[in-house]
Amino acid sequence: MVCDDKLPDKKILAQKIVVNDPLHHLFDAVDAVAVQGYNENRQVIYWNKGSELLYGYTSKEAVGEKIEDLIIPQPMKGTVIAGIKNWISNGVEIPAGELILRRKDGKNISVYSSHALFTNQYNQKQIYCIDINLSDLKHVEAEAELTEHMLAATFEVIPDLFFLMTADGTIIDYHASNKANLYVSPAEFIGRPMTDILPSEVADQFKCNMLKIITQGGVINFEYELVMPHGVIYFEARMTYLADNKKIIAIIRDVTEQHQASEFIKMHAYYDTLTQLPNRFLALDRLSQMLNEAERNNEKTAVLFLDLDDFKKVNDSLGHEVGDKLLIESAIRLKNIVRKDDTVGRLGGDEFIIILRSLTYDHNALFVAENLLRSFRNPFKIDGRELILTLSIGIAMFPENGKNSSELLRNADTAMYKAKSLGRNTYSFFTKEMNVNMLRRLEVEEQMHGALERGEFEVYYQPQIDAINKKIIGAEALLRWYNPALGNVTPDEFIPIAEHTGLIVPIGQFVLKQALSFLNIWQTEQQTSLRIAVNLSPRQFRDTELLNFIETSLTKANITADKLELEITEGVLMIGQAYIDNALMKLHELGVKLSMDDFGTGYSSLSYLRQYAFDILKIDRSFINGITSNKADCDLVKATIAMAHSLGLKVVAEGVETKEQFELLNQLECDYLQGYYFSKAITMKQLLDFSVTF
Ligand code: C2E
Ligand code: CA
Ligand code: CA
Repeated sequence: MVCDDKLPDKKILAQKIVVNDPLHHLFDAVDAVAVQGYNENRQVIYWNKGSELLYGYTSKEAVGEKIEDLIIPQPMKGTVIAGIKNWISNGVEIPAGELILRRKDGKNISVYSSHALFTNQYNQKQIYCIDINLSDLKHVEAEAELTEHMLAATFEVIPDLFFLMTADGTIIDYHASNKANLYVSPAEFIGRPMTDILPSEVADQFKCNMLKIITQGGVINFEYELVMPHGVIYFEARMTYLADNKKIIAIIRDVTEQHQASEFIKMHAYYDTLTQLPNRFLALDRLSQMLNEAERNNEKTAVLFLDLDDFKKVNDSLGHEVGDKLLIESAIRLKNIVRKDDTVGRLGGDEFIIILRSLTYDHNALFVAENLLRSFRNPFKIDGRELILTLSIGIAMFPENGKNSSELLRNADTAMYKAKSLGRNTYSFFTKEMNVNMLRRLEVEEQMHGALERGEFEVYYQPQIDAINKKIIGAEALLRWYNPALGNVTPDEFIPIAEHTGLIVPIGQFVLKQALSFLNIWQTEQQTSLRIAVNLSPRQFRDTELLNFIETSLTKANITADKLELEITEGVLMIGQAYIDNALMKLHELGVKLSMDDFGTGYSSLSYLRQYAFDILKIDRSFINGITSNKADCDLVKATIAMAHSLGLKVVAEGVETKEQFELLNQLECDYLQGYYFSKAITMKQLLDFSVTF
């Protein structure tokens, strides 16, 4: 029986502890656990350092006090007292467990409490409590729980999609508050690689970014779009790699709205709202880029400044609505004329800009300008009304007319005013000389149509001389054109135009036929085996009838193939087309001689000489010109002759004008000579009378 009223003195209790219990020595040494001992009356008889630390009472304060008055919270007191009594009297053990106790400062403290009942040498029962502080542990647990709740709430609140993946992209977990943005249902993607589920382009993006994130760490973000049942959705993915866990976290955000907003802003910042064309800012930006490119590739760029003639009148008399419609229609027409890579922009009002990239010649721009004017010849049909609108175009060329975009635009603008002053509905180049050149080119082109039929062409012949015996061995056929309106036009001017228009094909056939029939007459008259060289343009190789034509012409003129020499330039070979290789091989098989013309001006590639069956090499006259005054030219000619001979080719020197050149070439063992020193190109009649006098 426990008697509550005969409480021993505090001092006596303390003495007993020190004397009686060696176990206390152990408890005194540890302060990580709190140990308290109390007697049958629940008076504290032992209070170790750990208890002092945990509950805030010193041993002195605690000993003698009832345990329930120290650390048992009020609501628990009854139960605790009953439990202790029950144990002491009836042996019903108090189980170990978690308890919330009270510290001296009134704060609660969570402990794990174990109890032991002893009977001492005086046959008194004593209970010992060993308490472990759970507060720290509790704190961590609570923290973890909070984090978990927070995450769950976050996943619920944030509209993003979360995916947890293994390093190979297999999805092992996900969170999606908005299931509508899942590309496929969870059943279809859990346990499968992300890259198997998405369309291949997006999958590739993921693949490459996952690799990056695994190797480089950090956070990576990228955008992609998916076609979903509710439309095209733009997503932004952020990924990070948890290296310790070998897991990838991907957070996917729907950025469709931002995307649309930025597209809208871009559209407004860079494009004209009425015509949808690039505005001044974007057009000039593109021009700058094209200029860089043109500079790198050694190409030309044309800037066309366009202004609608009398547009203000249309606007004022028919109203802005009609004016707007006209601008829209004009923009469509302009765009239809140019290539995809070119740029059409609206500078403002009724002014447009067109940028033509990668041009080879100035006249490429001219053709576009003509097409533009032509496209405006058809009336515009606006609101049931037919309206005629014309254009004035100013053209500035890069690099000739300006180094940068603003200079070119300014000069194109100046040229446009020139076009206006010329009476509108026309174009003008920035420089006078370009205008003159272009006009001349157009005239030549115009006059060339029908010139063949009108008999304006005549083939002249320039003799070729054998360097050793000084005898004439043949001649080069050179075309001459006399036009009543233009007078004599040189082949250097009209041949490129004939090539451009394709007229070179019938004209070339005319030259060949003439030359062969003349050769027949010439051979008969001279009773020697003379030969004729005919120039062949690259464009003529595209004529599928070329070979047939040559063969039948040879037969008709009764000339053996080896008396015909065809002169081609390196340019033909550089086109690198199979049909050209093929034609050259067939010509060689036919027995026709092939001559490489203008050697030294192009790449002068030895490989071409080896690769194709050339018989003759013609050294360009620009080298022969300097041969007696310039050592470098002389050395080059010397080396060329030696090389040609080693490849089994005969050498013709073009443009021999002086006796000194003639003699030097002789020393250098050049085979044949051609030039003004012997004769200019002369008519067939003159050649028949030609006699060598050197
Ligand atoms: P090319 O094939 O290099 O012809 C040689 C040119 O040099 C000819 O000019 C000729 O008159 C000129 N020439 C000859 N000897 C001398 C000289 O001692 N000094 C100088 N300064 N020049 C000399 P041409 O007849 O004006 O022909 C120019 C170019 O036109 C030719 O260059 C050729 O590429 C082309 N051509 C002429 N006729 C034809 C033709 O029938 N068909 C084709 N496809 N092209 C032709
Ligand atoms: Ca030639
Ligand atoms: Ca030549």
